[in-house]
Amino acid sequence: MFNTLSDRLTSVLQNLRGKGRLSDADIDATAREIRVALLEADVALPVVRSFIASVKERAKGSEVSQALNPAQQVVKIVNEELVGILGGETRRLNLAKTPPTVIMLAGLQGAGKTTLAGKLARWLKVQGHTPLLVACDLQRPNAVTQLQVVGERAGVPVFAPEPGNGVGDPVGVARRGVEEAKRAQHDVVVVDTAGRLGVDEEMMRQAIDIRAAVQPDEVLFVVDAMIGQDAVNTATAFRDGVGFTGVVLTKLDGDARGGAALSVREVTGQPILFASNGEKLEDFDVFHPDRMASRILG
Ligand code: GDP
Repeated sequence: MFNTLSDRLTSVLQNLRGKGRLSDADIDATAREIRVALLEADVALPVVRSFIASVKERAKGSEVSQALNPAQQVVKIVNEELVGILGGETRRLNLAKTPPTVIMLAGLQGAGKTTLAGKLARWLKVQGHTPLLVACDLQRPNAVTQLQVVGERAGVPVFAPEPGNGVGDPVGVARRGVEEAKRAQHDVVVVDTAGRLGVDEEMMRQAIDIRAAVQPDEVLFVVDAMIGQDAVNTATAFRDGVGFTGVVLTKLDGDARGGAALSVREVTGQPILFASNGEKLEDFDVFHPDRMASRILG
């Protein structure tokens, strides 16, 4: 992901090297090229607009005109603005004062929620937590089994409805899962929920009901970074429907243009907490805006 964007931005900024002073025309031309590169990477238009406006304003100001190396200063500004749209500081997971911490996952079918549940559970375990996974995706055939498989791989138990008991009642399963976590003293509960291929009212209703029933400390919206502009629309629908406290980007290992990753923080106002970049349980990490920006700028 970001290869094209990264190449483009690097070459645009390289063109400035060797110039002593930068005229306003130089800065305008650079800003135009950055704008095109971002749009071609599928970054949402409002995000591109405010990004370019900030870069231009700062690049025409004294921090560049008085710099010993103006070109380098522009690179620094672009880097800082990228870190800004990606959320600035790394946002840590919010843990409950009184365990268990409840983390609910929401998102479309295929976004990577169930895989993510396993990754998150494994990561939590490595951090010294004692997580419990709760299988509330009762819509997709095999979702429960899939969670059990990733749970086993992660070495984390899974709470799932017994055959014939609670199969049609994801809200009840979520509630009982949290009760089970309290009883067995798990300090974090990860609740996997059902998604659908597109945003629909019933899915949203179910997610809202689960949220109300278990009062999660975090609702993580899981989004496939490969779906381009659609990611932004889906994110907005989830924000206005169930609401969420953080975002997890999946499939960053793909070769899509990556604009979703760059837009979702600005568009939804919620931070990106984690990023997934592969199908294996280890292909997962805390999201660091500064590292991602450096990766994009090469
Ligand atoms: P869910 O419907 O949201 O629970 O999605 P799944 O967890 O079943 O994931 C859908 C597909 O995406 C599966 O084939 C996963 O192996 C795959 N997948 C999940 N996360 C990633 C990722 O970070 N990178 C890649 N390449 N594939 C992923």
